[in-house]
Amino acid sequence: MQLFDQLKQVIDKDTAYENESRKMTVLIRILSLIMMAFFSVDTLIFAVSGNISGLGSCMLIGLLYFCVFALSYKLRKMPVVWLFIFVTALWGVAMLLLFGSDSGFQCFPAFLIVIFFFASNDKFRFKLIFAFMTFIMYVGLINLYGSRKPIIYRVSVATHRYVRDSCMLIILLCTCIAAYIFSNESQTMESKLVEYNKKLKEKANTDPLTGLNNRGSAMDYLAEFVRKADDSICSICICDIDHFKRVNDTYGHDIGDLVLKAVAKVLMTTVADKGFVARWGGEEFFIAFPDLNGDDAMGILYNIQSELRKTVVMSGDQKIKVTLTYGLVEYDKNAGLDQNIKDADNKLYMGKEQGRDRVIY
Ligand code: GH3
Ligand code: MG
Ligand code: MG
Repeated sequence: MQLFDQLKQVIDKDTAYENESRKMTVLIRILSLIMMAFFSVDTLIFAVSGNISGLGSCMLIGLLYFCVFALSYKLRKMPVVWLFIFVTALWGVAMLLLFGSDSGFQCFPAFLIVIFFFASNDKFRFKLIFAFMTFIMYVGLINLYGSRKPIIYRVSVATHRYVRDSCMLIILLCTCIAAYIFSNESQTMESKLVEYNKKLKEKANTDPLTGLNNRGSAMDYLAEFVRKADDSICSICICDIDHFKRVNDTYGHDIGDLVLKAVAKVLMTTVADKGFVARWGGEEFFIAFPDLNGDDAMGILYNIQSELRKTVVMSGDQKIKVTLTYGLVEYDKNAGLDQNIKDADNKLYMGKEQGRDRVIY
C-alpha cells in the first residue's frame, strides 16, 4: 500500500511548467510505466528462450519508454507526447519487421491517433492531418514489409501468439486508460461548469450587501409573471426607508449599511415564502406577493411594520430604529410593466408626502 502511494506521488508530481495541464503528462507517465513493465516481462521471456534479437529489441524499447518517463519531469507536455508517440510508432514498426504483419501491428495507428487527439490543443484540422499521416504511414509500411519474411520468424507458434496477443492487450488497455482519464475529466469539468454557472447566476442575481435578490432579478420575476397568460394575480410593493440620509449623516455610512441589512432581514423573514423580496436600489426595496390581492398583501406589510418597530440597530450605545413607507398596487396585466411599477412608486411618494411610515394602497 505504501509502495502504491509512493508510486502515485511520483506519477502525480508536477511538471516543470506550472502553467500546463498535468493531466496528459500524468497519462503518459502511467502508460510509459505500463510499457516498461510489459517490456521487462518480454525481455525476460526472450532471455529465457535465448532469442537475442527479441531480447535486444525489447530492452531497447523498454529503455526508450523509461527515457520518456524520465523526460516527462523536464520537458513540456507536447514534446513528451511526441516522444511517446515516436517510441510507440517505433515499437509498432519493430513488431512488423521482427514478427510480421499479423503481430498486432494493426492496433497501433488507432492508439496513436487517440493519444494525439487527447493531447493536442490544435485545431481539429491538424488532428485530422495527423490521423491521415498515420494512416498513410501504416499503409506504406504494411505494403512495403507486410509480405516480407519477418526477421524473427523462428519463434515457436506459442511465442508468436503471445507476442501478438499481449501487444494487442497492452495497446487496448492503454487506450482504455487514456479514454477513461479523459472522459472522467470531461464529466467532472462539465459538472464543475454547471455548478460554477449556477453560482455565477446566483451572484448576478444577488445584491452583495443585503443578500436579497437585486433589481434585475426582480424585473425577471415580474416579466415571468406577465409572460404567464393565465388569470393569476400578484400584488407588488415598493418601499423606502424613511429619512435614511439622516442615519448616514448621523452615524456614518457603515452603520447605514448595517441598517440596510437589518431591514432586509426583517423583510426576508416576514415575507418568507409568501412573496419575493429584492433590493430595488439604494434604500428602496421591492416585494411581489404572488396570488395575493392588495388587502392580503397589506396584512403582510403591516406585519413588516410591526416587526420593524421591534428592530434596533446599535451604534455604540445609541439605538437606531427606522421605518418604511410602502406603495402597494395589485398588478394590472392590462397596463404595462413600467406603468405598474410607476403606480407603486407614485403611491410610495404619496406616503412620503403624507408623513411616512405608512402603507398607501
Ligand atoms: P426619504 O424619507 O424621503 O426617503 O428620505 P431619505 O433620506 O431616506 O432619502 P434620500 O433619497 O434623501 O437619501 C437616501 C440615502 O440613502 C442617500 C444615500 O447616501 C443612502 N444610500 C443609498 N444606498 C446606500 C447604501 O448602500 N449604503 C448606505 N449606507 N447608504 C446608502
Ligand atoms: Mg428614503
Ligand atoms: Mg429613496
